[in-house]
Amino acid sequence: MAAPMRRWIVRKLMSRFLKRPKLDQIHCCYCNTAKKRYDLVVIGGGSGGLACAKEAAELGKKVVVLDYVAPSTQGTKWGLGGTCVNVGCIPKKLMHQAALLGQAIEQSRAFGWNVPPEVQHSWETMCTAVQGHVKSLNWGHRVQLQSKKVDYLNAQGSLVDQHTVKAVHGKGEEYLETDNIVVAVGGRPRLPFEVSGVLQHAITSDDIFWMKKSPGKTLVVGASYIALECAGFLTGLGFDTTVMVRSIFLRNFDQQLANLLADYMENEGTRFIKQSIPISIDKLSSGQLNVTYRDSTGTTHEEVFDTVLIATGRKAETGKLGLENIGVSLDAESSKVIGGHGGDTERSTVQHIYAVGDVLHGRPELTPVAIKAGKLLAHRLYNGSTMQMNYEQIATTIFTPLEYGCVGISEETAVEKHGEDNIEVYHAFYRPLEFTVPNKDSSQCYIKVICEREHPSKILGLHLLGPNAGEIIQGFAVAIKAGLDYSTLVSTVAIHPTCAEEIVKIHITKRSGLDPTSTGC
Ligand code: FAD
Ligand code: NDP
Repeated sequence: MAAPMRRWIVRKLMSRFLKRPKLDQIHCCYCNTAKKRYDLVVIGGGSGGLACAKEAAELGKKVVVLDYVAPSTQGTKWGLGGTCVNVGCIPKKLMHQAALLGQAIEQSRAFGWNVPPEVQHSWETMCTAVQGHVKSLNWGHRVQLQSKKVDYLNAQGSLVDQHTVKAVHGKGEEYLETDNIVVAVGGRPRLPFEVSGVLQHAITSDDIFWMKKSPGKTLVVGASYIALECAGFLTGLGFDTTVMVRSIFLRNFDQQLANLLADYMENEGTRFIKQSIPISIDKLSSGQLNVTYRDSTGTTHEEVFDTVLIATGRKAETGKLGLENIGVSLDAESSKVIGGHGGDTERSTVQHIYAVGDVLHGRPELTPVAIKAGKLLAHRLYNGSTMQMNYEQIATTIFTPLEYGCVGISEETAVEKHGEDNIEVYHAFYRPLEFTVPNKDSSQCYIKVICEREHPSKILGLHLLGPNAGEIIQGFAVAIKAGLDYSTLVSTVAIHPTCAEEIVKIHITKRSGLDPTSTGC
């Protein structure tokens, strides 16, 4: 073959295989059809994925988001936006609000409202309203993607090689070639399959917010965020609600507050079956569910419920992604993507494949965490930023009837990390003014501030059990992130009369043994 001809062929091959063409569509070697080309493919249209995709598009990149919702074990499906919007934070907070309003109606009598003795709640009306809002958010997400020129595919994504994502949708499949990939597939409820009948008869948080008919007498299995929040609003809405607790309440949270919270819920009518696990769930001819469970002595018991809600944790949605085949390492236990490679908190073992949100191993499973990590990543990828996500001191709130908000570490962790002699724990039991007129029990309204003992007594953790704890803790989280110490905290003038003022007035140490009951103004 003549030299010019050889050079021409080599040039052609080089341009085909070494330099990725700048065209929008190239030929696919997997399906022999046109293959779309992107700067960024995001798999998962939830909190983290959408945030990252929109930010990257604003920075001028060609981006596609794939979102696919596999129906729940009970067949529930939902739209774009991920867990938070459809089966998490949003419907949960609205149902929490519904329950709080019920309490408020009851208490309003003491403030002079002439409320009829029997006030009824309609599950159907609440669900229709909540679902209506969720659907408006689904729509809003689609509109935003469109306006920011992010392509959206209602498709299940998987990786076929390090630069190619396969998208399977109603019309078939297509292949997307890309420079960077962000895995943001979140997680789904994990069922304890050792419990016979769990798959057939139990619901999860994927179903509760979309139930057409009211759940009736409900057993909630689990004792963490989801279990306590769901049990809290179900009790508040008037359902006979029982929580089955395997070991402790709210693992990894300050155990004093976790137990106070459980006490409050118990006083409000939630029943707890402690140190027990379910063994089987059998459907009776009445349609009800007979639950057999075992307590810590090994004795078995049975009880009939209308609904069994399993809230025993969540698992990452990485099973069908093909990540390991292309070199992305997953944690053996959690199946989540291991990040932190090359000094980048969200980078996987493959240089241009990242993970954000619940699917990233060892990070808090919270919406604002996923969103912030997604946005920061987009700026590192496309805006020359070097800013990494800071996963420390992230505030959170459990939206139970009495909310538990916190930022920083628990007393247990503080003792373990710093030693008992090196920390000071300030605490207070307080009475919200709103509780006085309706004579509401405030025995569990409690604040704990954990500080370093040495001057200037930097604050390590702040824990609050009380009304609107989420709203209160958010502001303090800013101060704590900025390095708040005890002397600055107590030099702050209070806003009176509020619950939050009790935090800036805190002065009794646990070490002193003095009565920590706040005496008011
Ligand atoms: P997700 O929001 O789960 O989004 C992932 C998306 O990817 C989903 O739509 C999923 O269907 C899709 N997907 C999965 N696999 C594929 C695939 N192969 N191809 C295409 N798409 C795929 N957090 C808070 O901060 N505050 C709260 O009050 C709060 N309450 C919660 C209450 C409940 C009941 C639950 C379950 C969670 C709650 N959370 C809360 C946690 C919060 O919802 C999650 O941390 C957050 O949604 C994680 O976002 P993400 O982007 O990682 O994943
Ligand atoms: P968690 O993993 O936090 O808790 C699981 C709970 O289930 C624990 O109480 C655990 O008990 C119990 N459990 C596990 N396996 C079994 C079993 N086989 N039988 C009986 N009990 C069992 O999961 P959640 O589902 O509550 O929450 C998942 C995440 O979602 C949270 O970490 C949080 O980040 C996020 N979330 C955030 C919310 C918010 O911000 N307000 C609200 C809801 C969720 P044990 O302690 O004995 O292991």
